Amino acid sequence: MGHGHPTRSLTGQPLPGPRTSSRPPSCKKHSVSTTSRGIVIAGGGLAAVRTAEQLRKSGYQGPVVVVSDEQHLPYDRPPLSKDVLHDSGKGVGDVIADVTLKPAEFYSDNDIALLRGAAAGSLDTAARTVTLADGMVLDYDELVIATGLVPKRIPSFPDLAGIRVLRSMDDALDLREHAASARRAVIIGAGFIGCEVAASLRKLGVDVVLVEPQPAPLAGVLGQRIGELVARLHRAEGVDVRTGVGVAEVFGTGGQERSDSGEEHGGQERSDSGEEHGGQERSDSGGEHGGQERSDSGEENRDHVAAVELTDGSVIDADLVVVGVGSRPATDWLVGSGVSLDNGVLCDEVGRTSEPHVWALGDVASWRDAGGHQVRVEHWSNVADQARVLVSAMLGQDAPSVVVVPYFWSDQYDVKIQCLGEPQAGDEVHVVEDDGRKFLAYYERDGVLTGVVGGGMPGKVMKARAKIAAGAPISDVLG
Ligand code: FAD
Repeated sequence: MGHGHPTRSLTGQPLPGPRTSSRPPSCKKHSVSTTSRGIVIAGGGLAAVRTAEQLRKSGYQGPVVVVSDEQHLPYDRPPLSKDVLHDSGKGVGDVIADVTLKPAEFYSDNDIALLRGAAAGSLDTAARTVTLADGMVLDYDELVIATGLVPKRIPSFPDLAGIRVLRSMDDALDLREHAASARRAVIIGAGFIGCEVAASLRKLGVDVVLVEPQPAPLAGVLGQRIGELVARLHRAEGVDVRTGVGVAEVFGTGGQERSDSGEEHGGQERSDSGEEHGGQERSDSGGEHGGQERSDSGEENRDHVAAVELTDGSVIDADLVVVGVGSRPATDWLVGSGVSLDNGVLCDEVGRTSEPHVWALGDVASWRDAGGHQVRVEHWSNVADQARVLVSAMLGQDAPSVVVVPYFWSDQYDVKIQCLGEPQAGDEVHVVEDDGRKFLAYYERDGVLTGVVGGGMPGKVMKARAKIAAGAPISDVLG
């Protein structure tokens, strides 16, 4: 690999100013070698930035290169389905500035080379090179895979303007622009992103129909009981929540466009692959789907979406359709590299992959947990925890010995839904507070407190952290 292509050596990039700690110890299997090709991080999201930052904090002084296929400076994704969508008063420049993770100076000040608009195309683990889509070859001592997820699409959907997915900044800006003139939106899939988009569109005054084949929103992650409380919240805000149904056909303004696969859509694909940013996936997810267009696809030349027919025969007029049926790991570029893949990049408990000198973290990575299970987590706070552990292991330093209790949140209207621990849909759920809008529930498995979920109860959720970490009996919180 790499013949006939330019090779970029990362050797010898001088660091600006003194570093406080010395070069990290090396010489262990998988630890940083004493050559100076440097560390390449493939991906330009939270995991890439946290890893680069952690490398410098930990005293690593060699070259660090971040390869991002996006043009934007790395940014934070959670606001994309929240403030970015519904804060329509802000200009695009301000919106982008608000969610940018680090200013440009962070990269120059820390001697981190950020290559934007540069997609990692393939990996040669024997030569220790990553070849970019434009043919450039990067050498590495250590490679960190942080390429995140690709949203799933529904292949049988017709190619109509007005059908959207949401994963990137460009998706969000595009959806925001479209939502400004939309009258009625159908959101397919009531996972976290579907629910958050529903809330944001309601704030903009758009009529929203939320379609979910499972019995309740978020049922696959939080169970039906809590899912019903979430459905109640959306109904109170005027969302038409349709559960237990999928999408049968999609019609365009030309009248005859239709999805003709005869399949039911609206969440089957998500239900076997976890939820967006709430999932802890233990099973394999499906392939990528085509069909839903991106922002730059020349919408004006095509028929526009006009209606959606559900599997119960009802037809909903709609000028906007948002597909929120989950995502899959962005690992296409690793196929054939030798890196083991199974619902993401398979890693041990510190982020080592099956190949020497190759590591992975974030949404794309399936780490082994304390119980020996492979778990892929799509949560924001997980990323920083993993970056600390991975960088320590890579540099041969002592790993942080904190007990991490998994956490994620989701903002829907004025209610912050928070989840601490590892509740599963099959756990017994104890709803201990419910005022008709806000709620608090503990999850129990085999008599043990596995997690807590609150809607609008931040203090009470966080109070359970120590007990969950200690594996306390459920009786400790039920009193
Ligand atoms: P990403 O943020 O997806 O970054 C991966 C980056 O790699 C992307 O920039 C991608 O373009 C790039 N890339 C992909 N392939 C290549 C390639 N071949 N070469 C180079 N670059 C590549 N979590 C919560 O806990 N709470 C929330 O409220 C919440 N809200 C969310 C809302 C939205 C709309 C989304 C999409 C996610 C949300 N999350 C939330 C999840 C959280 O944002 C993710 O867990 C986090 O972004 C994961 O970071 P990452 O770096 O692993 O992946």
